[in-house]
Amino acid sequence: MWQHLTDAVREQQALFDSEIASWIDGYTQEGGRLFCGKGCSNCCTLAVNCTFPEALRISTTLSESQAARILGHAGRLLSHVREVADLKSYLRMHRQEIGHCPFLDDTGNCGIYQERPLSCRALLSTRESRWCGLDFAQLSPEEKRAFVESLDRAVTAFPLHYVAATQERGQALETDIAREMANRYGFSLYGNLPYLIHLEREHGISGIIPQGFEITTSFLDQNDLLNPFLLTLDRE
Ligand code: SF4
Repeated sequence: MWQHLTDAVREQQALFDSEIASWIDGYTQEGGRLFCGKGCSNCCTLAVNCTFPEALRISTTLSESQAARILGHAGRLLSHVREVADLKSYLRMHRQEIGHCPFLDDTGNCGIYQERPLSCRALLSTRESRWCGLDFAQLSPEEKRAFVESLDRAVTAFPLHYVAATQERGQALETDIAREMANRYGFSLYGNLPYLIHLEREHGISGIIPQGFEITTSFLDQNDLLNPFLLTLDRE
């Protein structure tokens, strides 16, 4: 039932990987420098969002230890997310209380690298890794100003140091996947990667979605699983 969408995800990932490789080639040939590399994982403490078909694909590939980590991670998310009132607090809570992505392995590498979502593929850093793990609230106004002034506005998603073009392209591909899901089931589902996988593994959400928007939202609501920071259901 979902094969068509999960196959489309794989095609989008392959397309995106080749587009990113070309972009990096062009950027570095013009003297630009990127700092992402193997074992460099500070961005993996950010909250990672993706479309449901991407999460569904990943949910079928998990090892036992990854599945156990997803369960613990989702439990922590659910217990902390109810205490936050706005996006800024959610992002800070996520970094400070929830910890890194459950797919980050003990060597600091992504345990689902080939399957990782578009949003992870899109994140390219124009600054050293320490900037990806930094809580900017801890910087002095002078340090913040110096950082912001050092960014190349033509390349970065200003005032962040990540490449804008790859993020914009990743979001466009996510929109394509969401549209395909909405065409098939009447709505799209987007949200926190580990949480979406949890919904599939523990609640079989892929079997509920085909029953429609009302039944899906009602199921999530009755089981206290709906949360605006973790899930977005969109009928457009
Ligand atoms: S899926 Fe992989 S790349 Fe993405 S945040 Fe998790 S460990 Fe990092």
